[in-house]
Amino acid sequence: MYVIRARSESIFMDIPFTNLRAQFLSIEQEVTAAVTAAMRRCDYVLGEDVAAFEEEFGKFVGTKYALGVASGVEALRLALVALDIGAGAEVIVPANTFIATVLAVEASGAHPVVVDCTPDTYGLSPELVERAVTGRTRAIIPVHLMGQACDMDQILRIAETHGLRVIEDAAQAHGATWQGRTCGSIGDIGCFSFYPSKNLGACGDGGMVTTNSDQVARLVRQFRHYGQSAEYEHVVPGWNSRLDTIQAAVLRVKLRHLPEWNAARGRCAELYFQFLDEVPEIALPVTAAANTHVYHRFVIQTERRDGLRAHLAAAGVETGVHYPSPVHMQKALKHLGHSRGSFPVAEALSGRMLSLPIYPELGIREVISICTAIREYFGHPWDAHSDHPAESPQPI
Ligand SMILES: *Cc1c(COP(=O)(O)O)cnc(C)c1O
Repeated sequence: MYVIRARSESIFMDIPFTNLRAQFLSIEQEVTAAVTAAMRRCDYVLGEDVAAFEEEFGKFVGTKYALGVASGVEALRLALVALDIGAGAEVIVPANTFIATVLAVEASGAHPVVVDCTPDTYGLSPELVERAVTGRTRAIIPVHLMGQACDMDQILRIAETHGLRVIEDAAQAHGATWQGRTCGSIGDIGCFSFYPSKNLGACGDGGMVTTNSDQVARLVRQFRHYGQSAEYEHVVPGWNSRLDTIQAAVLRVKLRHLPEWNAARGRCAELYFQFLDEVPEIALPVTAAANTHVYHRFVIQTERRDGLRAHLAAAGVETGVHYPSPVHMQKALKHLGHSRGSFPVAEALSGRMLSLPIYPELGIREVISICTAIREYFGHPWDAHSDHPAESPQPI
């Protein structure tokens, strides 16, 4: 339950940054029935629901194959392994991403080459990618950050020119499209995470590799399952990196709701655009013309980020920062030899970006409450001449 308390003229509520409970409650019966059915079958590892979910997710993304794996980071590592990219190879990754993208490259044995991002859409900067290509470069990993695709026109062109593979990190972009093509079907391989808070999230960990390549599909199938080609025939040095049947059962239910959930995120975004339009101190998200955005995050930029964040917290609104430190500033990646100043765009963004709550269950009253607090902070209360949104709420 939200605690509702009055404050000046407006109503403020405690609004969490994510609300997984609300989502679960909306589909509780479907999920528990699916999980119970899987448990009764007892096919816990690579069971019926895994095969069915792979089929359904492949259709959703538009690839011939989809292979369920243990997590998003494992999807990325297995993609590299299946392409025989390891020691001696270089792989281009963005500075502004969740660290898993870079750690997957390290785990493969290849060398991550970090590149800065675009200041408004947060994707890999194509000009900088081009400059980072060397004789050892084997692949580019564009991360479709926040819910929209990178500039894939340019990235595909660079890859083609230099004979590189493209592995899409679509962990934040389930259902997003670029030129009408679904993320995860654009490059050679797509990698997804089903971490609970993603647009499509499991009740635990999970991931998926998508591809049209027969060879990649065969190798990922083998590498995720101890390198087996048939029972107790181990043809490659694989590992255990499988998607659980119970998670697949949950994900099958949730995949059916994903289009409606992504649409609801889009409606929340529209409301933010409408209500924050006249606040000059903040920059609202920019969607590239070729893209449909699935708003995994609704990220605004402001010079006064920390003050705004504290003000929202005091008003009961939880926010996030993605990410407070670019990957090259993390201690775990110190050996890459970068320092402050290496990737100025990502560094500047890390001090300006603020992620506002966005999820399918977020209601119009909550968005109004958040926007009221933001406008209050910057000294732009609702204009008496413009309609206060509470007067004419549009259902979302
Ligand atoms: C969540 C995420 C991952 C890692 O996914 P896990 O399932 O947690 O391993 C990788 N890349 C990006 C961009 C992510 O957001």
